[in-house]
Amino acid sequence: MAERSNPVADARLFRNIYVCRNCNTKIRVSNPKLLRPMQIRCRNCGSKALRPKHKELRKLKV
Ligand SMILES: [Zn+2]
Repeated sequence: MAERSNPVADARLFRNIYVCRNCNTKIRVSNPKLLRPMQIRCRNCGSKALRPKHKELRKLKV
């Protein structure tokens, strides 16, 4: 991984990014109304099984 820069910038970068549990496609969500994972669908496989990208970052941190 790249070196950690600004935590605020990291939060901003990862907050709106989700990862498909099915095919690991990263999905960037710019619309705050769609921030609920239930409303986002993977454009690659159409699955709604998504996880927030920032959880992965938190796991790496520990
Ligand atoms: Zn997918």
